[in-house]
Parts: sequence; structure tokens; C-alpha cells
Amino acid sequence: MAYVSRRTLAIAMAAVASGFAAPALAQANYPNRPITMIIPFAAGGPTDTVGRLIAQAMGADLGQPVVVENVGGAGGTLGAQRVANARPDGYTILLHHIGMATIPTLYRRLAYDPVNGFEPLGLVTEVPMTLIARRNIEANTLADLVALIRQRGEALNYANAGIGAASHLCGLLLMKAVDTRMTTVPYRGTGPAMNDLVGGTVDLMCDQTTNTTEQIRAGTVRAFAVTTPERIGALPDLPTSAQGGLPGFEVSVWHGLYAPRGTPAPIVERLNQALLKALQDPGIAQRFADLGTAPVPVARATPAIHREFWMADIAKWRPLIQAAGQFAD
Ligand code: ASP
Repeated sequence: MAYVSRRTLAIAMAAVASGFAAPALAQANYPNRPITMIIPFAAGGPTDTVGRLIAQAMGADLGQPVVVENVGGAGGTLGAQRVANARPDGYTILLHHIGMATIPTLYRRLAYDPVNGFEPLGLVTEVPMTLIARRNIEANTLADLVALIRQRGEALNYANAGIGAASHLCGLLLMKAVDTRMTTVPYRGTGPAMNDLVGGTVDLMCDQTTNTTEQIRAGTVRAFAVTTPERIGALPDLPTSAQGGLPGFEVSVWHGLYAPRGTPAPIVERLNQALLKALQDPGIAQRFADLGTAPVPVARATPAIHREFWMADIAKWRPLIQAAGQFAD
């Protein structure tokens, strides 16, 4: 047996010890540097709006900045991929929406696992959607708009944020309800799409009230329906899709926060605590209310409820997406 000096032995033992101790130490000190929150859509859109509000409040609680990075494109899959494949150390998190429940059905192949690649950290909001158009569209009511879509079909341009976006899902349901295909124009997010709708270079879009309420109130776009069972307080004059004559055309967009799969439980817990703090911030609640939404009640913002809700939503949307499949692109 080779001779091993006491010094070598001591170094080896220290290395083994630190190898085991390092993750625990990292968790105890967490967070000791800024955290990156990936938003899988462009800046200025509704997911970005929700993410930035939450990021600021979470950063205050965590004692480290939560820095938002927009990784838009491919319907929210590029940003999600970035987080699924990041180190599971709590320094890269994702704010995503209902696309987490539709992407597993819409995409056959992805460079990440859209279901098992993540640890849910908690639900954030549920946001109504509105069907809007350029303000000079040749329709005043939802019934007029349905007639116009049937008449013009693919001559009408429907803006969305790519396959897997909430605006994509909403368009899919609309085209299925009207049984007519329009030409879809994908953007990296509905923030930039809104600019083109206001400018009149695209005809229609469906988007969260967090992006549309102020434009609807200002009259820069024309609104036809809110896609919820009840009218909403922020836009009381806007009929529901059912009241406008399209009863099956309903969708609300939920948002949730995620870490990469394998993130240690104490870090998941710490991030969830920071989220709960943010959800109870009166400033955030007020801003959400102004934009037609509300924070998820804290009792529902746990990782376990988030996972359960997410899995149920994948199962809920799968048959509906398959039934509307001919309108999917
Ligand atoms: N809300 C948009 C969508 O999914 C994306 C965005 O936030 O820009 O359609």
C-alpha cells in the first residue's frame, strides 16, 4: 500500500467534507447574489407586466435583486427551455402562464421536458382575456365581427405570441367557434403585437387584460368581448363572449412561478415565501385590480396546489386543442 502523508490525508478529508458540505452551505446562504427571472415573452407585454411587479417585491423580501430577463420567441418555449436546462440552484426562475399547460400537447418535440423539467413554486394570478381589433375594424359587435371573420377568413390577420402563447390558444378557440381560419401573425410577445394592432397593421388579437385594459379605455383598439363567464369590474361595459353570442369561447390565463427540476426543497420553500409576500403586497393588489386581475389567494399559492392545478390544466386543454387542431398554426 502506498505511503500517504498526514498532510495529504488531511487535504483529502477536507475536500470530501467540503464536497458534502457545499450544497447545504449554499442553501443556508441563499440567496447571496441576484436571481434571474426569465419571462418567456417580449418586454412590455402582459407576462412581462406581471413578472416585473412580482420580481420587485420578491427581491425586497429575499434581500437580493430579482432581475427580469425577457427570452421571447417560439410561443414561450425558448424561455422555458432556458430555465429547464439551468442549474437547479435557485438563481434562475421562470414566470410562465397557461402555455405550461398547452405546450405539452401542442409540441411534439422540444429541447426540454415541458412537464418534468420544473419545480412549481406557486400560482401568481388568473387574468381574463379580451378579444380586440384595430379601432377602425368594420364591426361594432361580436356578432358583426363573427360575420366579418366568416366573410374574410384568411384575408384577416390575427396577431399572437406564437404557438403555445395564450393569444394562440384564444385564437384557436375563436377560429374553432367561428369555424373559420384566419392568417396568424406570430410575435415574440403581445407587447410588440399590440403596437401593430394600435397602428392598424394587423386586424385582431386576443390578449390578457393586463395588456389591453388601458388601450381599450383609451380607445386605441376596439374591444368585442371578455372571455370569462362574468363581466369584469375593470371593463364593466364589455360583454362576455357568451353574452355576445359565442358561449364556448372562454379562457382565463393563469401564471405560475417555476424553478428547474432538482432545485433543493429549502430553496423552493424560500422562493415560495417570497412569492407569498409579493402576493400580499397592497401595491401589487391595487395594480392588478387596475388591470382587471387579482393576486391568487395565498392559500392557493403553494407548490403542491400549483402542481395539481397545472397537471389538471394539461388534461383539461389536451382534448380541446386536439379538437381545434386544424387551426393550430
Ligand atoms: N400574453 C401573451 C400571450 O401569451 C404573451 C406576452 O405576455 O407577451 O399571448
